[in-house]
Amino acid sequence: MDNLYTELKKYGRVKVDEPLAKHTTFKIGGPAKYFVIVEDASTLAELLKFLDGEGEKYVMLGGGSNVLVSDEGFEGVVIKVKGNSIKVKDGVIEADAGCTTVQVAQESIKAGLTGFEWGVGVPGTIGGAVRGNAGAMGGDMKDAVEKVEIYRDGEILELTSGDCGFGYRDSCFKYNGGVILRVWLKLEKGENRDLQKQAINNIQYRNQTQPQGHASSGCTFKNVEITEDVDFKIDIPQDFLEKGIVSAGWLIDQCKLKGYKHGNAQVSEKHGNFIVNLGGATANDVLSIIDHVKGEVYNTCGVNLQEEIQII
Ligand SMILES: Cc1cc2nc3c(=O)[nH]c(=O)nc-3n(C[C@H](O)[C@H](O)[C@H](O)COP(=O)(O)OP(=O)(O)OC[C@H]3O[C@@H](n4cnc5c(N)ncnc54)[C@H](O)[C@@H]3O)c2cc1C
Repeated sequence: MDNLYTELKKYGRVKVDEPLAKHTTFKIGGPAKYFVIVEDASTLAELLKFLDGEGEKYVMLGGGSNVLVSDEGFEGVVIKVKGNSIKVKDGVIEADAGCTTVQVAQESIKAGLTGFEWGVGVPGTIGGAVRGNAGAMGGDMKDAVEKVEIYRDGEILELTSGDCGFGYRDSCFKYNGGVILRVWLKLEKGENRDLQKQAINNIQYRNQTQPQGHASSGCTFKNVEITEDVDFKIDIPQDFLEKGIVSAGWLIDQCKLKGYKHGNAQVSEKHGNFIVNLGGATANDVLSIIDHVKGEVYNTCGVNLQEEIQII
């Protein structure tokens, strides 16, 4: 094995030519030249400093639940972040970025804290959730985050929620880089029984509305915020107008695209914004569907859909 392999082993388990399809919820993606599994935030920071110092190319992977990895894979280091450290004190939850969002939500409920019950249904890590300002059932990370610790350009920084540039499924990390190392959530005291009930309702709602039994990466496109720049060619229902946002799934449905297939990928018949892997789909199958859907939605509805999933 080469020098880089030996160096990487100081930070965690290392695999070479690891198929990324094994690490994405889409079950799609070619090999990572190096795949390092890092188990805690401090080791992650050390690894990032090392890679930057050496000028090595790397990409972060949390739960792999919001990515489409190319069939060629990644010709560099893929860092898979895991974590177990969750501490609860005075209404604040501190978690390593690699903890799953579900774990953090369950701990918040156990501690009788409210404001993060929606997290019980969101796959992936809390670090990935911060980067994408993940949300569900009317809540999002913006409202729960107190501060985050990040690594950027050799430095470890603390950013408040206000510094994170959160917008709808958006944050400054998408533009300025930065790896989230630790997350602090500030929550309110709640009634434990109500919280459990709310969490169960959230999961039941998801099971009813989202496709079951096929691999996917969740919602492919962002919902469309109603602004002066968007000139809809179709009538928009009142409830979307009132909320100021139009469901991308509804727009896709207006174009009769549910069930549309390319290769082994398909627009879900249950939820127009999900693309599902019917078994053996390639990234190119999914990209063809994305192109087709964007074209049809633009022609029929006058809207340019934006991908929510991150393409690696
Ligand atoms: C069935 C299903 C349902 C879903 N439902 C929802 C939902 O209700 N709401 C919602 O918002 N999303 C939903 N998603 C999408 C996804 O779960 C979220 O976006 C999730 O927060 C992504 O986290 P992750 O750890 O899997 O990120 P990954 O997919 O691993 O990574 C996403 C991006 O973040 C980067 N990244 C990962 N970790 C870090 C880090 N520590 N620091 C900096 N960058 C990082 C990656 O490089 C990549 O660009 C769903 C997905 C699926 C499959």
